[in-house]
Amino acid sequence: MRLSSYFLPTLKETPAEAQIVSHRLMLRSGMIRQASAGIYSWLPLGHRVLRRIEGIVREEMDAAGSSEMLMPTIQPAELWRESGRYDDYGKEMLRISDRHEREMLYGPTNEELITDIFRNCVKSYRDLPINLYHIQWKFRDEVRPRFGVMRGREFLMKDAYSFDLDFNGARDSYNAMFVAYLKTFSRLGLRTIPVRAESGAIGGDLSHEFQIIAETGESQLYFDATFEEIAHEPSPEFVGKLQSLYAATDDKHDTSECPVPTERLRTARGIEVGHIFYFGTKYAQPMGAKVAGANGEPTTVEMGSYGIGVSRLVGAIIEASHDEAGIIWPDAVAPFKIGLINLRPSDTACAEAGEDLYQRISAVGIDVLYDDREERPGAKFATMDLIGIPWQLTVGPRGLATGVVELKRRSSGEREEVSIESALARLID
Ligand code: ATP
Ligand code: MG
Repeated sequence: MRLSSYFLPTLKETPAEAQIVSHRLMLRSGMIRQASAGIYSWLPLGHRVLRRIEGIVREEMDAAGSSEMLMPTIQPAELWRESGRYDDYGKEMLRISDRHEREMLYGPTNEELITDIFRNCVKSYRDLPINLYHIQWKFRDEVRPRFGVMRGREFLMKDAYSFDLDFNGARDSYNAMFVAYLKTFSRLGLRTIPVRAESGAIGGDLSHEFQIIAETGESQLYFDATFEEIAHEPSPEFVGKLQSLYAATDDKHDTSECPVPTERLRTARGIEVGHIFYFGTKYAQPMGAKVAGANGEPTTVEMGSYGIGVSRLVGAIIEASHDEAGIIWPDAVAPFKIGLINLRPSDTACAEAGEDLYQRISAVGIDVLYDDREERPGAKFATMDLIGIPWQLTVGPRGLATGVVELKRRSSGEREEVSIESALARLID
């Protein structure tokens, strides 16, 4: 992509409405624009990051054996009346009526819809277990939308749903999702703490929120120092170990009953990026989602749901990875891998070398943003730092005279002068 023809409306001034760094940086780097409170347009740069995160989430869900589908954003109110949630959900639900005065809603989540699909399509225990997911926009009319995409009203969520014949099956499904989440977050460059959460009377221990540590997080966390010391291997053997460690949010934490000695107890703010949940027959029972069991008896299925805040993750990753100059994207989610800076596009040698590098990098399928604009070098470096591209490759007249270019790693700030060929060898591996 050539910056001269890219849509990157960066801002010089810090937007006054943004209270936290990720919101400021997303606005300043031209990733998003607010349409109305808690509702955003994703501009090209932000959209790339959103798609990258979505891609990693998708790969790990597929690898865990979940099947992707797509449910609509608009749902009929009747289904929510069946589960009893139409009235319970209150003002957070955006209610709509169509031209025939039929009551509809913009989905805040999809348990009812998926249970309806299941009960109409699945008849036998032999078809179980089933795990389905989709990545779709949700709407929750939050009282206080804030922090940009972190607490939006419209937001992108991956939500998966599991169906099993009995509790043991449901627990296996739950643990498989637990592992998939560890893998997903570790690929996103994040270290998460699985915090045990309330799952209602039936759920027992089977509910975890995945929290990342960040000063601006909305949750107050208390957790065992062991979380900081152990390697977070996303393996099935590791699930038991992680689930046995103490971690709680402030509403659950009770100092007098905490099993962790004071000197081993850590406190921090956390951002909830995912939530997994076993809820038994909470929806299957009222909605009549049954299959014929091995003995032919109708059996109500056991369900779980598994959410990841895809759009919230964009902000959360920035909260965890930035400096004074701007965003520092982890390689896996970076909108471009390389920012190619041409210090003097009007100079023939620079133009040729820049174009050649741009073509050769693009040819091998690496995403490169080529700054081919006539601009001051300072402004070019500042833009690349702000938008957080992991590698900066700079071509200038002085270097070219001796056959070198400059390679900078955004995360460490380390710069090196190298020949064009060795720069390419380093970047194209
Ligand atoms: P929270 O406690 O932050 O309000 P929740 O518990 O209501 O979230 P879930 O129903 O568990 O959220 O949704 C799954 C995931 O969707 C959450 O873990 C979070 O990452 C994301 N999410 C929820 N609400 C929002 C929102 N308003 N804006 C952006 N992401 C959200
Ligand atoms: Mg939650």
